[in-house]
Amino acid sequence: MAAKKVLIVYAHQSSSSFNAAAKNAAVEVLSAQGCTVEVSDLYAMSFKATATAEDIKGDLKDAENFCYLDESKLAWEQGKLSEDIRKEQSKLTEADLVIFQFPMYWFSVPGIMKGWLDRVLTNGFAFSQEKPYGLETFKDKKAMLSFTTGSLESMFSPTGINGDMNVTLWPLQNGILHYCGFQVLAPQIFWAPALAAAEDRQNMLESWRTRLQGLLEEKPLSFTPLDCFDENTFQLKPDVHEKHASEEFGLTVGIHLNKPLPPHNQMKAGC
Ligand SMILES: Cc1cc2nc3c(=O)[nH]c(=O)nc-3n(C[C@H](O)[C@H](O)[C@H](O)COP(=O)(O)OP(=O)(O)OC[C@H]3O[C@@H](n4cnc5c(N)ncnc54)[C@H](O)[C@@H]3O)c2cc1C
Repeated sequence: MAAKKVLIVYAHQSSSSFNAAAKNAAVEVLSAQGCTVEVSDLYAMSFKATATAEDIKGDLKDAENFCYLDESKLAWEQGKLSEDIRKEQSKLTEADLVIFQFPMYWFSVPGIMKGWLDRVLTNGFAFSQEKPYGLETFKDKKAMLSFTTGSLESMFSPTGINGDMNVTLWPLQNGILHYCGFQVLAPQIFWAPALAAAEDRQNMLESWRTRLQGLLEEKPLSFTPLDCFDENTFQLKPDVHEKHASEEFGLTVGIHLNKPLPPHNQMKAGC
């Protein structure tokens, strides 16, 4: 495998946590393969989590009616974004693979990581409102979620009390990563390490290490191709809809056509 650059965006407060162990395993295995691995340790960096006018250097276009979406786009175009954002954007530009390592908070990422997503994935740099899902800047990059839960796997099943993890992952994997044009790798989920026996925790880390060996060659998750949608209404084209009329499952967890969800669509490649 050719040497690749990996960015790990990491959010945990403790270096003795399971998340720290998962992050360290990734650094070790990927570095041993010849990858250059950079870690953005968000709590250690005291990364600013709020998207505010302070993110923009110099005068604003319209300070009275401040609009983050517009002002941050303009600041990105003019090189006026704050230094912390610019640094993260430059790491992202370099990276072939981005791993988000975090403990699940409220069915999502911790606030500090949400702040990274809000601020670093700037309008114009990471996505285009004119071409939703269609900006090609990140098309050759892979991104994935690697996270721990407090809940057991059974609780995140289609019959479990939390509901189907496939559904939980849709906003993060589709609404952020796929929206920004990344190839999205299947998530790495460490189910309830705090409830697991010591041996099972070791096994979880061991299987992560094994997966890391071939991570960069993995096929991404499947999403409905852009050309299946009308370019004005962003609705599924009638012929695509018709073609799937007799299929048992919907296209994806989100674009399900009122059919049963394709099982594991957000969990495994090829589903
Ligand atoms: C605000 C908030 C919201 C939350 N929302 C949710 C939610 O929506 N859904 C949900 O499921 N959970 C939720 N949780 C729970 C949270 O996801 C878990 O507490 C977290 O995922 C556990 O990961 P950790 O790294 O902190 O584990 P830790 O508690 O750090 O570690 C678990 C165990 O692994 C051990 N360990 C550490 N290093 C190693 C190693 N190298 N080898 C073997 N063992 C090791 C630790 O000693 C510990 O015994 C929430 C928690 C908070 C604070």
